Order: sequence, then structure tokens, then C-alpha cells
Amino acid sequence: MSFQNPVFIPGPTNMPEAIRKACDMPTIDHRSPLFGQILHPARAGVQEVLKSDTAEIFIFPSTGTGGWETALTNTLSAGDTVLAARNGMFSHRWIDMCQRHKLQVEIVETPWGHGIPADRYAEMLKADKDHKIKAVLATHNETATGVKSDIAAVRAAINAANHPALLFVDGVSSIASMDFQFDAWGVDVAVTGSQKGFMLPAGLAILGFSQKALDANRNARLPRTFFDINDMTKGYAANAYPYTPAVGLMNGLLLATETLLKEGLENVFARHNRIASGVRAAVDAWGLNLCAATPDLQSDTVSAILTPEGFNATDIVTHAAEKYGVAFGVGLGEVAGKVFRIGHLGSMTDVMALSGIATAEMCMVDLGMDIKLGSGVAAAQEYYRGSAGQALRDAA
Ligand SMILES: *Cc1c(COP(=O)(O)O)cnc(C)c1O
Repeated sequence: MSFQNPVFIPGPTNMPEAIRKACDMPTIDHRSPLFGQILHPARAGVQEVLKSDTAEIFIFPSTGTGGWETALTNTLSAGDTVLAARNGMFSHRWIDMCQRHKLQVEIVETPWGHGIPADRYAEMLKADKDHKIKAVLATHNETATGVKSDIAAVRAAINAANHPALLFVDGVSSIASMDFQFDAWGVDVAVTGSQKGFMLPAGLAILGFSQKALDANRNARLPRTFFDINDMTKGYAANAYPYTPAVGLMNGLLLATETLLKEGLENVFARHNRIASGVRAAVDAWGLNLCAATPDLQSDTVSAILTPEGFNATDIVTHAAEKYGVAFGVGLGEVAGKVFRIGHLGSMTDVMALSGIATAEMCMVDLGMDIKLGSGVAAAQEYYRGSAGQALRDAA
């Protein structure tokens, strides 16, 4: 018997059996055409998931954080200016990385729970007549607060200022779960990792580069060795890497992209929206609020739920782990102790979500919160009853 429950953290996410097994491979020669048969279709699959016809796809043995570093070091030089909004722990960490690389960061301080203020970006880009800003950073989905930002609006701000800055998007907790349009949004570098929407173990940084970002590489002087995209490009041309690739994870990534594309990207996004809507119905029934300030900001991959003043939200997460063996996400940074997070991305169904909602409910009642057992579950059930099953019917 297994005591394994689904996890409700916003990454690493639950793994479908077939994808987990695809990572379990015998050793192959990673400098042989056999590896090329995994590498090239996996990269093509990622390109399709990004909705791009042209992005150059790079896959490093790393995580999303290594993806940030790949984006910065391959396109910028020490002293360059970048523009970034800080509205949660992940945008904060990316800004911190920029500063450690001796980049100048023009920071737009944004209340946690709000999205990227594209109008502020537009003003600052318009004011930057000398084009000192070389790159605009955007965290598509702030995993700490459950807030999604409008990347098309950020692109529109850059265009309205007629500004040549590159657009870098952290899509670590959105790509492969929420709509992401590399080409249509004019993204120059997109960053993600293997352990969120791709439903794999951690271990891969996954990136798309536009031609403009590849061009910027020629004059970029920040030091890089492990994350050098030129070394990687040479490796790919020989069905290989500049070093030893994580072959099993790459094989898993190939199956993950096939699985997502077979379900259909729009169906994947609709499923995430449906599951998230059920969670939001439960939160509403509990009489609680999300950290996301307005409904248009609500993430379809993670819900950060505010608990009443004086209550330590982290206790819910600790209690869920200790008593029920279920993992939720704690609040990070400014919202530590104020929110707990339900991750609902990746391999997730309505029925799995119901078990997470039911568990969160038991914990809150155990800890003395004024919540009626079954209230959130019933609200989510009503929502799912009315909308579930479409994916199963489509697949049949
Ligand atoms: C998880 C996450 C990261 C960090 O990725 P790691 O794989 O943990 O390095 C960065 N940005 C966002 C938005 C994330 O959700």
C-alpha cells in the first residue's frame, strides 16, 4: 500500500506515471545519433508549447533559476540597465540576480498581490530617450502571490515607446499550463523549468531565444561558461551537449511535450482554468480572499489564500503535512505567515483538486478557524459538476 498523496505545491508538480517512467532509461551514448532522436524532437515540442515558429530552444541541466542566469548572461554586459517590477518573491529573486551580476536595475516597486504595472513601464521606457534600458523583465505568473501579469500589455508598452529593449519573460509557473504566446507577444527570452507545467522532476532549465536575443549575444560581455548558448548550439549541431546531458529527463520532456500537445494546448489551459475556478469557488465559500487584488490577476496555476489577521497561515501547511501527509505551499517573503498556497498546475484533475480543497478545509477547522466543514468542497463540487468532463469527452 502506498501513502502517497498528490502534492498541492506550485512545483514540483505531480508526475503522470508514463512521464515518470520515460525518465527511467538505460544508459545511452549521449554523443550518438540516438541522443539526437530525443534532443531534437524535445526541442521542437517545447517550441510548439511556446507557440513559436522561430524561437531557438535551449535546454540546460539546471532549474528555472539557471534559466534566469542564461537569459541575463548571454545577452547583457556589466553596467547595463534593466527594468523590472518587484511584486513577489520570484521577481525579487530575479532582480537580486541582476544586481549580483552588476546590472543596474530600475525597479518598479509594486504591491504584492498586484500585477506588472505596464503603464509605469511605458512611462519609464518613454523617458529613457538614450535607450539605456537594455532589457525589460516580466514575471508572467508570480508564484508567491498567485498573480498573473499581462505580457501582451508589457510588449505594447515597449512598442508604444518605440524602445529597442529586449523582453525577458519568466514563465516558470505559467508555460505549459496557462496561455503563453512567444511570437505574438514578441518575447525575446522565455524561461521555464522542468518541474512545473512539464510535470517532470526538477533538473532542466528550458528557454526560448528570439533572433533579436541571439543577435544581442554577439555584444554581451557578462561571463558565462556552463550557460553559454554558443557552446550549446555547437553541441546540438552534433546531436550532443558541450557536457553530459540529463538524458532521462530529456526523454521525459519529449513525452511531456507530446502529452501536452495531444491533449491540445487550449484544452490544457481550459483544464487549468476550470480547476482553478473550483478552488476559487471554495475560497469564496470559506469567506476568505485571495492575495491577487482583482479577478483579472488570478492565476490559474496557484492560489495564494489570505488567512485572517493574527492567524499564522504557515500553521495550515505544517498541520497538513503532519496530520494528513499532504503538501501545500507556504507564504514567501512579504506574505510569509499571511497566505498559504494551493498549487493546481501540471498533472491535476478536478477530483484531485477536490481532495486538496477537502484537506485544506480539515486543517482550517482543526486549527480553529471559523469555517464549516464541507463548505468549500461543496462549492467546488457545484462548479465542477457544471463544467467537468469536457476533457474526457474530447479524448473519447
Ligand atoms: C519555481 C519558480 C522559479 C524558480 O525555479 P527553480 O526551478 O526553483 O529554480 C522562478 N520563477 C517562478 C515564477 C517560479 O515559479
